[in-house]
Amino acid sequence: MNKQVIFKKRPIGNVEADVFELQNNAIPELEEGEILIQQHYVSLDPAMRGWMNDTKSYIPPMAIDSVMRAGSIGKVIQNNNNPKFEIGDCVTSWGGVQQYVVTNGDGWYKVDERLAPMPMYIGTLGMPGMTAYFGIQEVGKIKEGDIVLVSGAAGAVGSIVGQIAKIKGCTVIGIAGGKEKCDYIKNELGFDDAIDYKSENIYTALKKKCPKGVDVFFDNVGGLILNAALSKLRMHARVVICGAISQYNNKSKIDGPSNYLSLLVTRSTMQGMVVMDYAKDYAIAAKQMGVWMKEGKLKSREDVYEGIENFQETYNRLFSGDKNGKLVLKVIE
Ligand code: NAP
Repeated sequence: MNKQVIFKKRPIGNVEADVFELQNNAIPELEEGEILIQQHYVSLDPAMRGWMNDTKSYIPPMAIDSVMRAGSIGKVIQNNNNPKFEIGDCVTSWGGVQQYVVTNGDGWYKVDERLAPMPMYIGTLGMPGMTAYFGIQEVGKIKEGDIVLVSGAAGAVGSIVGQIAKIKGCTVIGIAGGKEKCDYIKNELGFDDAIDYKSENIYTALKKKCPKGVDVFFDNVGGLILNAALSKLRMHARVVICGAISQYNNKSKIDGPSNYLSLLVTRSTMQGMVVMDYAKDYAIAAKQMGVWMKEGKLKSREDVYEGIENFQETYNRLFSGDKNGKLVLKVIE
């Protein structure tokens, strides 16, 4: 049997328990060329909230009654003559929030479990890590000496953004919620400074901690934080719009930045990015990140919860911030 989290209802505002239904369904027989994957971990990402909305986006919205969309990693446990895979292969793709997947293997990639633990392949070596790698370098166009500000700085994307900027010789200030996370990014990850947006006034803190302004603002949060950061741009700054988690559960329209004319004054650019646009170069990025990790320059932290039945409660940690690092759910029993 296959425990699956089924998407039942489009939420308005926060995601409540009735948005999902946990079902236990039979695993279909494999047809010729198909494999059966037992999933070990699924990735929990803020983007999930956007996929629930019936609005135009960079990928189609989820259909009601479909398995909840999610990145995942697991192992091939049966193979009905698919030449590309062997039993025991560790594989990753968009397997959804379920324990088993029957597939012809299209879109599934093998990874080497001896090089990194499985959760890391859906975190730093997976989609969030790729977002950080390409976002800060290709869109943020960082160069040595830049002052880089990053929001959501203790999270899956932000923590990697800040560390890559440090590797590239930038000064890095992170914005995160709470003293523990701020201490973590400074003391463990080597950020130069941190702003606790939960206890500090963001405008006052930016004035104090970014007195010369910022060359790059990498934004994961939007809203008030984006607006405040726009007031600190240096000449020819780059603002990377990666996400706006503070706005995802809004019941009305999202808050736009009123300080946008600072882009004009400083001749700066603000550019959105979608990680999938860089898919052809993921392997190059993962290789480089692996080297940095081996050299001790890049740290990765995964926060793993257990039990597919705890999906909704675990998902909500993305929005409460009650988690440390990349949020992952273990679904194998
Ligand atoms: P994450 O940081 O691991 O988790 C979300 C974090 O957001 C929470 O831990 C919380 O941290 C913070 N947060 C939640 N509500 C907030 C609020 N109202 N104000 C300020 N901070 C808030 O998530 P992630 O995977 O790294 O994703 C970060 C952002 O990148 C999201 O916006 C996501 O949608 C975006 N993203 C975009 C792409 C792309 O291709 N464009 C790809 C991946 C991710 P604190 O405890 O610090 O508040």
